[in-house]
Amino acid sequence: MPPTHDLAVPARALAIGAHPDDIEFGCGATLAKWATQGCLVHLLVLTDGSKGTWDAQANITALVARRQTEQHDAASILNASQVHMLDYIDGELEVSLAARAQVCSVIRSTQPDVVLGHDPWKQYRLHPDHHAAGQLTLDGIVAARDPHFFREQDLQRHRPSALLLFEAQVQDHFESVDGFIDHKVAALLAHVSQYESTHGIANDREAQTESFRAGIRAQALSAAKAAPHLTAAAEAFKLITEL
Ligand SMILES: [Zn+2]
Repeated sequence: MPPTHDLAVPARALAIGAHPDDIEFGCGATLAKWATQGCLVHLLVLTDGSKGTWDAQANITALVARRQTEQHDAASILNASQVHMLDYIDGELEVSLAARAQVCSVIRSTQPDVVLGHDPWKQYRLHPDHHAAGQLTLDGIVAARDPHFFREQDLQRHRPSALLLFEAQVQDHFESVDGFIDHKVAALLAHVSQYESTHGIANDREAQTESFRAGIRAQALSAAKAAPHLTAAAEAFKLITEL
């Protein structure tokens, strides 16, 4: 199948990430674009981000609170409507029935036309939470569409029309994000606690911030080169529509 591009702007979208900042890296520009065009964007973050520091003496309670604030700040920059956080312990997310029920519940509550999440089949990815988050996204979708899963939820069942996997093993769909890379960078820069460990911004803050910005921009330009249509910047996905 030839690659596709630019889904019709959904009325509602739900992006599911393992940690605060994963969604912004994976699909921040696409979400900002859709939000500008009237889409109600929901973010679901599965873990509390409590491993997100290299400081062995860090106050973990304070870190978790800080990461929640940063996630809300980033969501505002993307013009997202709501942030849902499940607060599983960072690094210990499991593909459990309990977590699947929670993801299913958020899908049924938010009724998204498009769900976005990690690719659970991504090769050579080390972080277990990313695999687990991707699998829970799939499992949550399967449960949400069928009335006999989690009947106790008393929520309307729901079948999204599309699933977009980000950082995907096989990329076959591209969203144009011309004009929205600045939103993505700004949302990522809202995660100030991650500057040292993830963003590579430490001692020379100004130069390294510029280099971070350039890296995100270069990634979008490179994705655009693989896109089947003329666009300056893109985010790449695996598109699944048989849901
Ligand atoms: Zn992550």
